[in-house]
Amino acid sequence: MTTFEQNSALSERAQSFLSRDVHHHVIDGQRVPAASGRTLTTVNPSTGEALAQLAAGDEADVHRAVEAARRAFKGHWSTWTPYQRQALLVRIAHLLDERFEELIQIEAMDMGAPVSRLRTTKPALLKMLSFFGSQAANIAGETLMNGIPGTVATMTLKAPVGVIGGIIPWNGPLNGQFWIIGAVLASGCTAVLKPSEEASLSVLRVAEILQEAGVPDGVLNVVTGLGKEAGHALAAHPDVDRIAFTGSTQTGRSIIQASAVNIKKLQLELGGKSADIVCADADLDKAVPGAAMGVFANSGQICFAGTRVLVQRSVVDEFTERLLAFTDTLRVGRSLDDASTLGPVISRPQLDKVLSYIDIGRADGAELLCGGQRVEGELGKGYFVQPSVFGGVTNEMRIGREEIFGPVLSILPFDDVDEAIAIANDSEYGLGGAVWSQNLSTALRVVHGVHTGTMWVNCYGYIDPMVGFGGTKLSGYGAKGSSAHMDTYLYTKSVYLQL
Ligand code: NAD
Repeated sequence: MTTFEQNSALSERAQSFLSRDVHHHVIDGQRVPAASGRTLTTVNPSTGEALAQLAAGDEADVHRAVEAARRAFKGHWSTWTPYQRQALLVRIAHLLDERFEELIQIEAMDMGAPVSRLRTTKPALLKMLSFFGSQAANIAGETLMNGIPGTVATMTLKAPVGVIGGIIPWNGPLNGQFWIIGAVLASGCTAVLKPSEEASLSVLRVAEILQEAGVPDGVLNVVTGLGKEAGHALAAHPDVDRIAFTGSTQTGRSIIQASAVNIKKLQLELGGKSADIVCADADLDKAVPGAAMGVFANSGQICFAGTRVLVQRSVVDEFTERLLAFTDTLRVGRSLDDASTLGPVISRPQLDKVLSYIDIGRADGAELLCGGQRVEGELGKGYFVQPSVFGGVTNEMRIGREEIFGPVLSILPFDDVDEAIAIANDSEYGLGGAVWSQNLSTALRVVHGVHTGTMWVNCYGYIDPMVGFGGTKLSGYGAKGSSAHMDTYLYTKSVYLQL
């Protein structure tokens, strides 16, 4: 099937958007070509064919976008009340609700996630917008009468920090961008977004839909381009106040260095190697599909994927047998095919990286129990990897320590809960993790013992924006979701009033 044939399932709107010759930046409400005139090609990972041309932004484009964002921050936008910003977020939610099918088709073509999976993410997106709408109307400081009564009053005010640089990865930009957009609009900040060069299209399309919803020009700008050019220029720009970054730990380090120029505030959501702990008393009817999809969802390209599945030795054989049977039911296919449950990985380099880790796993002595190959035949031009399961993995092996970001699950047996906690903690990352047990005391012991930003009990990957999630150790810092997230888009001003 060629890209054209695959396109036949596309809505008219998605088709018309994708057929543009070049996808320009969105700066100050206008579609603007790269100052250099350069473009870069983005590829449909289901077919390996060119999908679209993106403006290849660099320092000049970033500068223009930051100037627009600064003007908007100081301009009419600064007079909007919290209730007006809340109403704007509600309008955006309505428009996204209406246009979601178009958006997921663009996303599916661009980054490969199956439409069946993307469709299920709509409630989470609407919940996130509802959360940020509520936050807009809840920005509050404190008033303290702590001097001699009647002579002095003190209070704190919360004010938007200014221009935000949002640097976004490719593994879920359609929903992921709203962690930034929601907080920007709720707080009264403005932003320049730099999506990944591998998957920028849903961010560009959303920018246009936000204009339709009434987001003023310059409040949200999008500059596309390579990380080392446009991304670096944004992280290093002296008039950007804060960077919200989601991506690899290695890039996070470069951003810390680049942002030192003006001591930017940072939120860094980085990589992970999360442990999913299955105790002997777990309900395997739930734990097996839960642990499998904790890795295979989005073809393993989720930061908090529970790639180290720690299974208590007394149930490891039964768990493994049931896991392999479940894995066999997964349907690998093109992103626009409604029947697909797993899509391709994002790119040729990512495909090569995943396959090389499978070779490393074998060479290190792990037992490949299923998968392990690139999918051939009619999917052979896309970047499809069979869902793969390794048994007998130890935490010393590279596949037990390093982030693979592909559909590769490792089973690590353990004898008792203390050993499981020790294995889980033997990682430089600290992002997610789970425990499956019907004994609440055991589950809470694990929750307390594992040093990680998020723990799930008898489930995996559920996120509520009111609660949020975040990382520790090399997985970064700064929460996504919760009032702590909003706080990082605001600064506190202390006011002393002599009465
Ligand atoms: P990446 O670090 O390669 O790229 C992320 C973004 O940073 C892209 O927009 C890229 O263009 C940009 N970038 C690259 N080099 C840059 C530089 N020197 N300066 C500024 N920007 C630069 O990550 P990726 O491959 O797109 O995404 C996969 C990684 O993201 C994985 O490690 C995954 O764990 C992590 N991730 C983390 C979370 C989380 O919430 N913790 C969520 C999703 C993905």
